[in-house]
Amino acid sequence: MKTIVTRDILETFKRSSDKQSLKASVGRAIFCPRCENLMDYRRAVEFSVWENETGKCATVRAICAPCWDGVRELVTKPGMKYRVDVIDGRKL
Ligand SMILES: [Zn+2]
Repeated sequence: MKTIVTRDILETFKRSSDKQSLKASVGRAIFCPRCENLMDYRRAVEFSVWENETGKCATVRAICAPCWDGVRELVTKPGMKYRVDVIDGRKL
C-alpha cells in the first residue's frame, strides 16, 4: 500500500513538472518550427536529445503534435550516440 501511494505521488509530481517543461518550451517557440502554426501545449510535444557519451542535453525543442507524428520515427530512431526524451502534451 505504501509503495503504491509513493509511486502515485511521484507520478503526479513528474506529470506536473513535465507539463511545466512543455509549457515553457512551447512558450519560447510560440510557433511550430515545421508548419509554423501557433502551438498550444496540449497539442504539442517537447523532445530533448541527450548525448549518451557525455550525458549532456544537446537540444530541447517543441513541435506541434501533428508534425511530431510525422517526424517521430525519424527522431526517436534508436542510435548509439543519442537518447531522446519525449513529453507529449496530449497525454498529460
Ligand atoms: Zn507543426
